[in-house]
Amino acid sequence: MKIAVIAHDGKKAEMVQFLMEHIAELKNNSVSIIATGTTGKHAQKSGLKVERLLSGPLGGDAQIAAQVAEGKIDMVFFFRDPLDKHPHEPDIQMLMRICDVHNVPLATNPATAASLIKSLK
Ligand code: PGA
Repeated sequence: MKIAVIAHDGKKAEMVQFLMEHIAELKNNSVSIIATGTTGKHAQKSGLKVERLLSGPLGGDAQIAAQVAEGKIDMVFFFRDPLDKHPHEPDIQMLMRICDVHNVPLATNPATAASLIKSLK
């Protein structure tokens, strides 16, 4: 089970808190975490082992989308900041589209991500 995690700057603290709250379930289900660069650096603070890709604006979202398309990622937790602008908006739209194309669960807020984690059991 591989989960990709991405959080915009205004949501990174929320992502770390979310991962800490669910660390037991993530570890018990042998989940491996892959993340965009800066989110990954923050996510490592939760104590989880995290594989880091490029930072989002430098292509990290596109790298995750490629892995979703290749069937290598089972779920995506993408905590977007709806109150901010993003230079890589086309990549963000592309990642969400690819999740829909391949029917990969995509959580864009902690409430949905928590429901997906419950479904791991
Ligand atoms: P980051 O990228 O984790 O490198 O900040 C996330 C994003 O903005 O897509």
